[in-house]
Amino acid sequence: MTSNADLAARSRAAIWHPCTQMARLDAVPPLPIVRGEGPWLIDAEGQRYFDATSSWWVNLFGHSDVGLQRAIAQQAATLPHVMLAGCTHPPAVELAEGLSALTGGHLGHAFFGSDGASATEIALKMSAHHWRNLGQPEKCEFIALRGGYHGETLGALSVTDVPVFRDAYAPLLRATHLAPALHEAGSIEAIEALLRTLGGRCAAVIVEPLIQGASGMRMHAPAQLSALRRLCTEYKAHLIADEIAVGCGRTGRFFAWEHVQPALPLTGPLWPDFILLSKGITGGTLPLSVVLTTNAVFKAFLSDEVARGFLHSHSYTGNPIACAAACEVLRRFRDTDLLQDLARQSTLLRAAFAPLADDPRVQALRQVGTVLAFDVPSGGERFSERFHLAARERQLLIRPIGTTVYLMPPYLIDEVTATWLAAAVRDTLTDTLRSSPDA
Ligand SMILES: *Cc1c(COP(=O)(O)O)cnc(C)c1O
Repeated sequence: MTSNADLAARSRAAIWHPCTQMARLDAVPPLPIVRGEGPWLIDAEGQRYFDATSSWWVNLFGHSDVGLQRAIAQQAATLPHVMLAGCTHPPAVELAEGLSALTGGHLGHAFFGSDGASATEIALKMSAHHWRNLGQPEKCEFIALRGGYHGETLGALSVTDVPVFRDAYAPLLRATHLAPALHEAGSIEAIEALLRTLGGRCAAVIVEPLIQGASGMRMHAPAQLSALRRLCTEYKAHLIADEIAVGCGRTGRFFAWEHVQPALPLTGPLWPDFILLSKGITGGTLPLSVVLTTNAVFKAFLSDEVARGFLHSHSYTGNPIACAAACEVLRRFRDTDLLQDLARQSTLLRAAFAPLADDPRVQALRQVGTVLAFDVPSGGERFSERFHLAARERQLLIRPIGTTVYLMPPYLIDEVTATWLAAAVRDTLTDTLRSSPDA
């Protein structure tokens, strides 16, 4: 059995960790995790940590979920992979049909990618290429929102506005038009002014519905989305809904976009032109993303000319094992009362954390579905790192974004867990502020 210290040291020597200043690894050694069980991650010496952010927002039903294990094992034993050009296979067909059905057929065409950033790349290319095929090649500019996050490959980073990820690569990026985010005052008016100025050169507006995740869990009302839908229709720009983080039940409905109208189902004109899914789509087991789009977009690529088709590809497009895991995720939404249960879990979280609203250290306590966040303006130097380390001492794995503490737990919240989480977060906050170098 490997020890914690051994794994951490070898990791440090051989692995360049993501989103990590490697010079800080002495202060913040990686947790050596060897097993996952429900919401718990377990290290080499048996210590358990509650995965409060679902391992970067990907996990839905907990770790080592039996249904997902079975789906993956069966598919791995039957057909682990076949290319999706010139061939097709049951898991991809079933997944595409299932997702189409969830949009009432309005986004009935699924294109598969390998991760979230590649879904963004695909949607941007598809949008601009669609306009080019319609004889409008000048329609190739994009509007993105302040604080938006859509991934970190160069195209996706071009429409991302998080300085810490973007600034070093600014010279490599394509110019994008930035508008105020949907939680900021005057956002819709500013987007309209921009669309008017662009005079038909805007291919698409890209947005994170309901929650801007990576820039600090900034939330807006669903009415902003319907207003944006109307604008995009009026100015003939595509609307790309990046649901990579907020899709798959996170907000209480399968798609966050479904909140644009209280009563479902949504009619055609209310849907976005593209929906991007990744993260939760395989329940936190395998990398996969899906770009869903309309028949109107799809049709613009049909031609006798090969080059008018959408030729984008990657080697593992529509990998059968990943698709089988995603089919199991869809089955859970279809065949169980998961959505009702999510409403209950969201209420339990709300009730358990409600006392924090009166805590003078806490600002802007907010929640959508099973995403809960608050700000700690007095956090001080290296708040995120100090909070993360203090949380480890309380069996909690959590990484604040700057001075924003947030939870996005697996869909396994019961009353005992919610109460325990709220106490652990409150006590961690106390420990963190006590250790503040400038307190
Ligand atoms: C995580 C995320 C992405 C990028 O997904 P990756 O799989 O990390 O490339 C894009 N958009 C949003 C909203 C995300 O949260």
